[in-house]
Amino acid sequence: MKKIFYLATLVLVSISCKQAIYEAAEDEHANYSSTSLAGDTTVHKLLINGEHTYINEIGGIYYFAEDLTITDEQFGKLLQLTNTSLNTTERATITTSLTSVWPNNTVYYSLPAQGSLNAATYQTFLQNIQNAFNLITAETSMQFVQRTNQPEYIQFFHSTGNNSPLGWSRNRVNRVNIYNWNSPAIIAHEVMHSMGIHHEQCRPDRNNYIIVDVTKAQSGTSINFNIAAGYAGNGTFDFNSVMMYSSTDFAINPSQPVMTRLDGSTFTKQRSYLSTGDYAGINALYPATN
Ligand SMILES: [Zn+2]
Repeated sequence: MKKIFYLATLVLVSISCKQAIYEAAEDEHANYSSTSLAGDTTVHKLLINGEHTYINEIGGIYYFAEDLTITDEQFGKLLQLTNTSLNTTERATITTSLTSVWPNNTVYYSLPAQGSLNAATYQTFLQNIQNAFNLITAETSMQFVQRTNQPEYIQFFHSTGNNSPLGWSRNRVNRVNIYNWNSPAIIAHEVMHSMGIHHEQCRPDRNNYIIVDVTKAQSGTSINFNIAAGYAGNGTFDFNSVMMYSSTDFAINPSQPVMTRLDGSTFTKQRSYLSTGDYAGINALYPATN
């Protein structure tokens, strides 16, 4: 058994020894390195399937994208995938276990507290959470059910940013932070992360449709252009996806887009609805059972 498995397992069980583990993993092979940025951010750079995956660690939390967090366990699995000696079966086993879906196509949730929101804003926020659920269920078999005593559920919060964990985890409450309380599609975007859905530009086949140049992205923002190992993009690459970013998002210079179409032209994003491709993606991940 390769040492990296042992090291990655240690990551799962020992948070206090994280730094020592990274250094050991770094010595083991050249497919992993980490650097510290100004402030509290460590950038982990992993070579997986010939492509670099960047993970930002901020305050002990791993970010796969600016608004998408992963668990220590998911990070440990990504570390394992940097090992080029894995055989096809080992690689596939790790890859398929990276993200779990909600059992029975059912997502439990708990509504946010009012906090500092005024009564009218709070009511709009609650209504837009329902509107976000309605967007998702319109053409899928997903169900959103208010939580009673289930151990796994989404807990909404009004916050200074939008973010969500990736997928379902046993005994984990998915804290979904929402800044854009007035946007059902942005709320749906974050809920879709909790359902296990990545950004459209992270599809493994994305290089057939777009050119991505992370050297044009601001320092520390390369995480937004990762290719998600094993992620099943469904159908044709979808520029209208509510999970797709704009050409110039995170660009150092807006005249130098990070992403373009293959012909060099640019594109913008929409956050108003779920596209046909979004529904196809959800239905592939959560097929109707009857
Ligand atoms: Zn997102």
